[in-house]
Amino acid sequence: HVDVMTALVSFDRVFEVLDLKPLIRDREDARTLAEKRAPSGNGAGPSTVKAPSVEFDHVRFAYPSADEVSLASLESIARTDTAPGREVLHDVDFRAEPGQLVALVGPSGAGKSTITHLVSRLYDVSGGAVRVGGADVREVTLESLRAAVGVVSQDAHLFHDSIRENMRYARPDATDEEILAAVEAAHIGDLVADMPDGLDTVVGDRGYRLSGGEKQRLAIARLLLKAPSVVVLDEATAHLDSESEAAVQRALRTALSGRTSLVIAHRLSTIREADQILVIEGGRVAERGRHEELLLEGGLYAELYRTQFSHQRDELWGQGPDEGR
Ligand code: ATP
Repeated sequence: HVDVMTALVSFDRVFEVLDLKPLIRDREDARTLAEKRAPSGNGAGPSTVKAPSVEFDHVRFAYPSADEVSLASLESIARTDTAPGREVLHDVDFRAEPGQLVALVGPSGAGKSTITHLVSRLYDVSGGAVRVGGADVREVTLESLRAAVGVVSQDAHLFHDSIRENMRYARPDATDEEILAAVEAAHIGDLVADMPDGLDTVVGDRGYRLSGGEKQRLAIARLLLKAPSVVVLDEATAHLDSESEAAVQRALRTALSGRTSLVIAHRLSTIREADQILVIEGGRVAERGRHEELLLEGGLYAELYRTQFSHQRDELWGQGPDEGR
């Protein structure tokens, strides 16, 4: 016991001694991000969250330098590939209406991931503002913001632990019934039912082996369990067979419906369904519109489509034409 206590105390001390302050923290007067809950039909079940808008208001952004990035912002791993202070987003301006799906496409290094990082406030903007449900993300508590924004990367790894614990990572108090419902909704219920120990089945490299598509659907189940009103998704680039691909697509459709989503899109089906496509290039929104409109424009989108997509039969976007055959 003593050791644990000492360790905890020392951890606090690290910050004191090094005088490190988290870059990103609550303001003194931070308020809770108001989630507008619409009452469900009979008033008994969980209320449905009404999705908020997500707005980028003339956002400029430069990554902080490594020594600005303190231990406390563990998510913001400092990289040295960009000179600190070099602006990577310039005047990014758009608005995702409640429930809309916004697809981000564009060349590597254009700034797509950076845009998604700002929604859950992993960093603060250098200029302009990011608003969720009309509230500047700097004015609300990080806890309420990060509860409202679900981030999912389908390439995310599962822990070497039971399905139950992997799911509870999204919501520690989730009951087995809730976990099973999420797993069912993510179209992976049959597999879990067939597993040797059900929810106790240990998955991961040294446990029950899952295919890429199964892992992706478990990641989606985790998201459903968290039930955020905003979803930030980095679509997987892994190649799946067409059956898994279809299952993942169905699960995604469930996960995104009724939520405001920002998706770094690699699948043509997602891009086609998007209410808005933002073509990001060099840290700016170079083009915006829907698939057909952008194709007609004959600009960068049309070019990306022609060079990267139309050669591929497996509906993946963002890789060279000759890869992954
Ligand atoms: P990709 O499709 O390859 O993932 P992207 O469009 O998501 O690219 P970002 O990852 O947002 O692009 O990168 C935008 C710019 O910011 C690039 O110049 C990149 O090198 C730089 N960058 C990204 N992350 C960091 C970081 N943590 N620290 C410093 N610079 C970074």
